Amino acid sequence: MELCNKCGKKEIFLDDLCKECYLNKNPLLISFKPVKILVCFCCHKYFYKGKWVSFRKLDDSIKNILQTRIVFNDNANISSFKIIPRIPKHKESPNLKLDVESLLTVFGIYHGKKRPIKEEYILNSKLIFVLCPRCSRHKSGYFEGILQLRDIDKEVIDYAVNEAKKQKQRGIFITKKLGVKNGFDIYLTKRGYIHELARELLNRFGGETKMGRKLFSRDKQRSRDIYRVNVLFRQSKFRKGDILKIDDGLFKVKNIDRNIIAVNIKTGKKTSIMPKQLRVRAAEEIKETIVSLVFPHVEVLHPETFQSVKPENVKTKKLKINQKVRVVVSEGKLWLVD
Ligand SMILES: [Zn+2]
Ligand SMILES: [Zn+2]
Repeated sequence: MELCNKCGKKEIFLDDLCKECYLNKNPLLISFKPVKILVCFCCHKYFYKGKWVSFRKLDDSIKNILQTRIVFNDNANISSFKIIPRIPKHKESPNLKLDVESLLTVFGIYHGKKRPIKEEYILNSKLIFVLCPRCSRHKSGYFEGILQLRDIDKEVIDYAVNEAKKQKQRGIFITKKLGVKNGFDIYLTKRGYIHELARELLNRFGGETKMGRKLFSRDKQRSRDIYRVNVLFRQSKFRKGDILKIDDGLFKVKNIDRNIIAVNIKTGKKTSIMPKQLRVRAAEEIKETIVSLVFPHVEVLHPETFQSVKPENVKTKKLKINQKVRVVVSEGKLWLVD
C-alpha cells in the first residue's frame, strides 16, 4: 500500500495524495468573490447583467447572481449544485443593507473516479435596497402625460387608478392624482401607457377619447422634441337601462362598451349602435306608475293624465293590479320599460 505524499496516511485518492489532502488542494469550488446585489424596493427589480430585471422571489434573484460568480474546478465533472440563500427577516426600506449567507451544495466527480464528492460552501453577499433610476425619476414628480377623465362615474376612476397601480414592474407609476371640475386627472410616467389605459376605459365603459400633446422640452442629445400627452376620456352620457328614442322606436340600453347595444322595446330586436351615429341628446325620462287593468288586456295609469291607458308594447310577464311599473311617455304614447 502506498502512502500519501503529504500526510503519510495509508491511502491514495489521486495524484499520490489521500482523499483529504487531495480535496484540500483541489476543492470543487475554486473561486467565489462576495457580491453586492442591488434591489429596487419600489418596483422590485434587481440589477442583473447591466439591466434592471423583475423578479418573483428574492431568492431566485440572489441565486441568479451568485451563479454567475461561481468558478468550479476543471478537474471534476460537476454533476449538480444547489444554492439556498438565507435572507434575514427584514422590512424593505431605502438603503437597507443585509448580509445574506447562501448555502452552496455541490456534487462533482473527479477524473477517473466513479463516486461523486459532496462539498458545501457558504457564499456571502450583501443585499442593498435602493431606488432604480426609473423609480427615482417617478419619486421626483416626473410624468410624461395626463389621463383626463371627464363626466365619469366613480367606478371609472377606481378602475383606472387600480390598473395603473399594477404597472410598477413595467416602470409605470402614478405621479399625481387630482380631482378637477367635472372629473379627475391622473399623471403618469409613461406616454404609451396613457393611450393604452384610455383605450381600455373606452372598451370597458364606452364613451369617447381625445388626444392632445404639448411640447415639453427638447432632447438635445438626440435632437428630438419631447412632448407631454393629454388623453381625455369622456364616459358615455348613457347608462345601462336608459331608454333612447331612435327614429320612431324606443330602445333600452343593454350594454355600453365601444358600441351601444340596445333592444327595441316593441320588437325585442337587438341592435348595436356606434356612438358617433347616435343622434340622441338625452335618454327618455322613466316614470313610475301602477297597473290599472289586467283583463282582457293590460292598462296602466298614465303618469301625467292619470287616465287608464293601454301601453304600446305588451309584456309577456304576468302583471297584477296595482303593481308598480316603470314607463316612458313619448309623443303622448305610453311604453312599458321593464
Ligand atoms: Zn494525506
Ligand atoms: Zn424601481
